[in-house]
Amino acid sequence: MDLSYIINELGEERHQYFNAIAPPIIQTSNFAFDTVDDLRNAFRDEMAGYIYSRGINPTVDILREKLAALDGAEDCLVFNNGAAAIFAGVFAHVKTGDHIVSVQHPYSWAAHLFDKVLPRFGISTTYIDGTSIENFERAILPNTRLIYLESPNSWFFDLQDLSAVAELARSEGIVTFIDNSYCTPLYQQPIKMGIDLAMQTATKFIGGHSDTLGGVLSGSGEMIRKIFDSEFLCVGSGIQPFNAWMLLRGLRTLPARLNQISASTGKVLDWLKSEPKIEETIFPLDPGFAQYELASKQMKGAAGLISFYINMNRVEEIEGFCNRLKHIRMAVSWGGHESLIIPRCSSVSRENFNPDDRTHRMLRLYVGLEDPEYLITDLRQALTGENG
Ligand SMILES: *Cc1c(COP(=O)(O)O)cnc(C)c1O
Repeated sequence: MDLSYIINELGEERHQYFNAIAPPIIQTSNFAFDTVDDLRNAFRDEMAGYIYSRGINPTVDILREKLAALDGAEDCLVFNNGAAAIFAGVFAHVKTGDHIVSVQHPYSWAAHLFDKVLPRFGISTTYIDGTSIENFERAILPNTRLIYLESPNSWFFDLQDLSAVAELARSEGIVTFIDNSYCTPLYQQPIKMGIDLAMQTATKFIGGHSDTLGGVLSGSGEMIRKIFDSEFLCVGSGIQPFNAWMLLRGLRTLPARLNQISASTGKVLDWLKSEPKIEETIFPLDPGFAQYELASKQMKGAAGLISFYINMNRVEEIEGFCNRLKHIRMAVSWGGHESLIIPRCSSVSRENFNPDDRTHRMLRLYVGLEDPEYLITDLRQALTGENG
């Protein structure tokens, strides 16, 4: 299916709504039936028709169809945010006594789920360095039910060989789950590489304007149906029609935004690499990246996020650099129109700052839609401390 078709046409039956180009926001909680028999039929399968918007809603359905197609998946569910999609996808596949193998340093709320929530139900998790397949082989136990991946991860960009992990997991009857937020399905399609469930936050690149949250979980029709019938309806974390409409709007420009951000990221990366005060940059599609070969093999692109170590030994210097930025804002999240920066030292108290621990001197930049020269000028004046 053509990308342009998916984004501009798929799922949009415009004759049903006055041939309007933009889809309607069907802002309703419930749907009426004419006869008892119609109602009875609807109750038989809540996924097949419109009954109540905690389940299926027409505006959300348009988005679902597009997002599943982008992932190359049979079906998907759209959640109110990415964390909810992680929760449902993981929770649906484990029970008391089960074991999970997860890559180290997963997204913070995935880690919270593994460390704080699931142990209450007798479910344990082993974290591994996912850069080698042997580490997966060694960590798998007879009760391992799920392998949790995040490739690349959004700070260090560690990758996993997705086809190899999928093959290993399949031979052991283990479900594979990936957080694909960094790449989006435009730059990586894990389901086509054999991964069972692909999750992405829609809050970042899909929405693209820092004005709504969303999360996507894609997989086989059978897996998605199982999650819909249980975790999705039970927890009630599906997206609201208006937010789904916002994401549909974001989706229209996703390829254009990713193209531009990817090009700008390359320019900003080159500049950072030329700066003596920048000790080292980390970007998955940089030839100097440790897993560059694997990244080039399984990813079609990379955009936005760059991590770097700064050559400053006092925390006040790093704070000065960040505080002097005039256009690049300090905020969590990424994927919007606006460039952002986060210094790791913001989660370390000043007294505990240790320049010998390189991670304390690490920053993560997100390159947005601004002109790259505008961003470089801002970075330069903040680095030198002179107004540029
Ligand atoms: C933001 C993020 C999430 C969570 O998404 P929300 O929509 O904020 O719940 C999950 N994984 C990664 C890598 C993220 O950056």
